[in-house]
Amino acid sequence: ERRCMERFRDRSTLSADGREYRLYCNISMPSASAAVIEAGGEGVGLFRTEYLFMNRSVPPTEEEQAEAYRQALKGAGGRQVVIRTLDIGGDKNVPCLSTQKEENPFLGLRGVRWCLQNEEVFLTQLRALLRAGAGENLSILFPMVSTLSELRSCRSLLQKAREQLINEGRPCSESVPAGVMIETPSAALIADHLSREAAFLSIGTNDLTGYIMACDRGNPAVGGLYDPLHPAVLRVLRHIIRCGSTSGTPVSVCGETAADPRLVPLYMSYGVTGFSVSAVAVPRVRKTVSLWSKVEADSLADSVGRLNTAAEVRELLDSAQRT
Ligand code: PEP
Ligand code: MG
Repeated sequence: ERRCMERFRDRSTLSADGREYRLYCNISMPSASAAVIEAGGEGVGLFRTEYLFMNRSVPPTEEEQAEAYRQALKGAGGRQVVIRTLDIGGDKNVPCLSTQKEENPFLGLRGVRWCLQNEEVFLTQLRALLRAGAGENLSILFPMVSTLSELRSCRSLLQKAREQLINEGRPCSESVPAGVMIETPSAALIADHLSREAAFLSIGTNDLTGYIMACDRGNPAVGGLYDPLHPAVLRVLRHIIRCGSTSGTPVSVCGETAADPRLVPLYMSYGVTGFSVSAVAVPRVRKTVSLWSKVEADSLADSVGRLNTAAEVRELLDSAQRT
């Protein structure tokens, strides 16, 4: 483990046949960006900003947010930093912002659904992001999108934020790539449409798996159904990634499964361009990528594609796993 850490910390992420992937990290505090680069991450693939809103009685101001985003960007030393807008609701309770009690929070006002109904909060965040992004390598990511209209609304609000800042004469980022999280079944099914209007797709397998299997992983009565190796989940992943490849839009996986050495070669075969994982997983994922060529990964994906149950997939992937 230690030797793997050292060998795979400082290098690019190449498959056995020399294809390059982006290996980024997930963070939730701005101060973590420097540490993940130090740990061998090639950028920040997902900064979960809801943590900035937690453990406080009022939401952070535009200035405070801009400062936090600047810190994350500076820490990454010019490498790409993908900052996700507030993903409130569902499992993420943010007490300083008023949310209504919902009977089905996972099917309720989450992520951009909430933000688009609370425009001042959203606009404040977008302004802070654009201000922090001036001259920096910033990308913005919208969570819990389920329709193309939502993506368009988010983008027009981003445009509005930019116009406001320009009118006020404040320095701001000129053009920020805006990507979309694919974590709802509807977003997955229209990934072709989304990929034509988004700068990149980021697959959130944590939520997506639960929504595809229609089950709550925290509920022991049905938690066993929550399975990223289920053929239904794999078919959806393959569909999303192929949509991205077809339109030439980068697609990465940022859920926990991105660090699973059994799934990495499958995602490579489907055509991902990158992974975003926790810092501790970087050397291991980089090593896994290096152990597979496209031809080998394709052959594995073909075999998996012929299997009918999660148990069969698990058995095959367990035995094919390279470490
Ligand atoms: C996901 O849903 O897979 C994801 C990366 O987002 P989060 O875990 O923050 O919901
Ligand atoms: Mg999610």
